[in-house]
Amino acid sequence: MSDYNWCHNPDCHTIETQSRVRGTGDNKVLRTVKIKANRYGGYQANIWNYFCNNNCLFQFLNKFCVEIANTYSVKRPSETRIKDPYKSNPESRYPQWNIESINE
Ligand SMILES: [Zn+2]
Repeated sequence: MSDYNWCHNPDCHTIETQSRVRGTGDNKVLRTVKIKANRYGGYQANIWNYFCNNNCLFQFLNKFCVEIANTYSVKRPSETRIKDPYKSNPESRYPQWNIESINE
């Protein structure tokens, strides 16, 4: 990966914000946002290296979700084995369920 990416929302350049404006005089344009790699200290870098914000991420997902779902299709549910769950405080009106994974 290079030091930056362009936002992958194909409509990023149509969103009217001051930060997207480039050019001078009569030659102004709205430009796709340039994203610095590993901004936010690498927090959720898989997503935030490719989308400038939540709005662009969800516009992208809304546009391509069928293709994504077909590419990474789920034909049946997955299951994770756990120990028999128990209530931490059965007397409580709102008992918390403790679920411990067997695989840990
Ligand atoms: Zn964007």
